[in-house]
Amino acid sequence: MAEPRTWRSWLRGLQREIPQISPKLAAKRQRQDAILIDVREPHEWRKGSPVGALRISRGQLESRLDKLITDPDVEILLLCENGVRSLFAADSLKKIGYERVYPVWGGYRFWKECGLASETGCLSPVETERYSDQIRLPPIGQAGQLRLKNARVLCVGMGGLGSPAAIYLAAAGVGHLILIDADRVDRSNLQRQIIHAETTLGLEKVDSARQFLLRLNPDIQVTSIHDPLDDTNAEALIDDCDVVLDGCDNYETRYLVSDCCRKLARPHVYGAVQEMWGQVSVFWPSQQQGGCYRCLYPESLQGDAANCNTLGVLGVVPGVIGTLQATETLKILLGLGQPLTNRLLQYDAMTGAFRVSRIQADPECVCSSRK
Ligand SMILES: [Zn+2]
Repeated sequence: MAEPRTWRSWLRGLQREIPQISPKLAAKRQRQDAILIDVREPHEWRKGSPVGALRISRGQLESRLDKLITDPDVEILLLCENGVRSLFAADSLKKIGYERVYPVWGGYRFWKECGLASETGCLSPVETERYSDQIRLPPIGQAGQLRLKNARVLCVGMGGLGSPAAIYLAAAGVGHLILIDADRVDRSNLQRQIIHAETTLGLEKVDSARQFLLRLNPDIQVTSIHDPLDDTNAEALIDDCDVVLDGCDNYETRYLVSDCCRKLARPHVYGAVQEMWGQVSVFWPSQQQGGCYRCLYPESLQGDAANCNTLGVLGVVPGVIGTLQATETLKILLGLGQPLTNRLLQYDAMTGAFRVSRIQADPECVCSSRK
């Protein structure tokens, strides 16, 4: 007579039918191209979860996977606490049509006993969905996205450069943006400062920007400071962030940003625009990666782009440069590629040309170790 169908007999049947893999093999395959999914509940992930795992609780697995995984042939590894929930989850995914699905034997409990890498803190299901295209990029993954979530970027200036830069940083999931600008929104700003709008005319720029950014991404924190960056606040603010995105419109503030970044070993992501051209670079002297802003523009010369209010600027040019600054900022936060240190990237909208030239650290500059 057939064994009566119970939860236990069903489980035993699945254990016979569905091949499981060990945590060590799962970790190895994850390093290749398999996707490891922790199917436990958020209160369980928060205490720890395998490094780089996607976190989608069992109840949401089927519907979310549909949006996250477009290749049905990808290898999917499922992990729960003890290896039971992952078996039922694998059974369900196989019925949908995913062929290469393997539960991880012994679950997270055994994963830890094997001494495999874990991380605490995690992305919510909404965040996982929001950033899914970024998380899918192998050099970013869940771990990179968490790095962005824990990052703090100081955006100096919410004008033509700061607007597109802050928008992309917020969209990418940088967890905390600190905005500083002493101006208010004027109608003549709107041709290039796309974070502001006709509806926010007269508001503090930092407040107008904050409203925009939180509408775009309510999962991040935005601190707005309606003051100039000066000697009284620069060091404390720069010390409290990972990267400074410099969207200033005057030399004095740029030199201050440069000096504080050098002193506090923070990367200074510089951008400037004028009329139909712009330029971007990264100054990060503490990394022995070239000089500072003063090496490029010694205070005695002041040959940098003028305030665009006086010379005029094609509105999209700061859009191009600010977006490049956001790209450099994300690369630095994620440890990706080569930042634009030692190099100046210049864009000429008239010819549509980008040009990259070397920047030499000035041995006579204050940033030089010889000084
Ligand atoms: Zn220098």
